[in-house]
Amino acid sequence: MLKETEAILADLISFPTVSSDSNLDMMAWMANWLEHHGAKVELFADASGAKANMFATIGPDVPGGVVLSGHSDVVPVTDQLWHSNPFHLTERDDLLLGRGACDMKGFIAAAIAMADPLSKTPLKRPVHLCFTHDEEVGCMGARALVPELERRGYAPRMAIVGEPTDMKIIEGHKGCCEYTCRFHGLEGHGSAPERGVNAVEYAVRYVTRLMSLAEQLKTRVPANSRFDPPWTTVNVGRLHGGVAHNVIPGLAEVDWEMRPVQSGDAQFVKDALEAYVETELLPAMRKVNPEARVETQVIGEVAGLEPMSDNAARDLVAQLTGDATCGVVPFSTEGGLFQEMGMSVVICGPGSIAQAHKPDEFVSRQQLSQCLTMLEGIGRSVAA
Ligand SMILES: [Zn+2]
Repeated sequence: MLKETEAILADLISFPTVSSDSNLDMMAWMANWLEHHGAKVELFADASGAKANMFATIGPDVPGGVVLSGHSDVVPVTDQLWHSNPFHLTERDDLLLGRGACDMKGFIAAAIAMADPLSKTPLKRPVHLCFTHDEEVGCMGARALVPELERRGYAPRMAIVGEPTDMKIIEGHKGCCEYTCRFHGLEGHGSAPERGVNAVEYAVRYVTRLMSLAEQLKTRVPANSRFDPPWTTVNVGRLHGGVAHNVIPGLAEVDWEMRPVQSGDAQFVKDALEAYVETELLPAMRKVNPEARVETQVIGEVAGLEPMSDNAARDLVAQLTGDATCGVVPFSTEGGLFQEMGMSVVICGPGSIAQAHKPDEFVSRQQLSQCLTMLEGIGRSVAA
């Protein structure tokens, strides 16, 4: 199996699926391979037509079963010093080098290699392979795919997200939500503030409200939170507006983010802000300019993966890897989206996050074979 996995990994790495570029060639290659090895494959194109998600099924078309999840995109190699061609699998000792080797084509290659033995085994429950686009730029692919899967009635029981964790079990991470808020007021002469709507002043009031919500979030820490810090955080990253001392600014912008530790926190902040804008800011702005408005643009909303006491995916992987220690990580994954779909979710994959996004990214043969051992166990768990 390891040889097969390495051969597949070499092919996957040869597709330069940087997030900004198309992943269609790699998707077509994988679809072809999987269909020849007994999987039912569905591709979901994005609006541009240049990207696709894949959802493949091995085994019976029934609810339950396991999703093996990976993203097809990789980060760029621009300005990185590589000692070999990043889009050509290179061996060094027992390491396999190439862009995406650990993040996360190594896991995808292992999952694809499993299709052949799995399709020859009678299965009671399906194994789904879920490969997405644009994870590295805000989980765009998975966010589009989840509603499609729900519409089709898919209800897998658990998901294993193969992000590089050195094959250790990760059961939680914070979410990441990013917003740009634009305040459209009314320009005017600085000598007559009451005749304009000062967008900067309203942006500052908004930020002040946001900061008081950030303080309130510290009182909403979930019991036994293992995150650092343990609460949902808010950061105001950019505040921009105005042109000169004596001009009332008509436009201001605030870029901010929050990292929720529990799903309710993001909604709590959004509801509170919306109420503040509707009942306080807008009425005051519109007294002077009925056209004044506040627009909030969602840049990305990646759900966190909330650690659960009841987690079948974690328990199964712990049993298969023989390692029951479970951690949380600071980076976000597609796992939270699967959790929102009702699945139990664990993050566990070959290679280390320390190599991800770096030059000379690699995955070791030892990690790949540990991953294959886990996937063989997953296969046994759904066998008839
Ligand atoms: Zn990744």
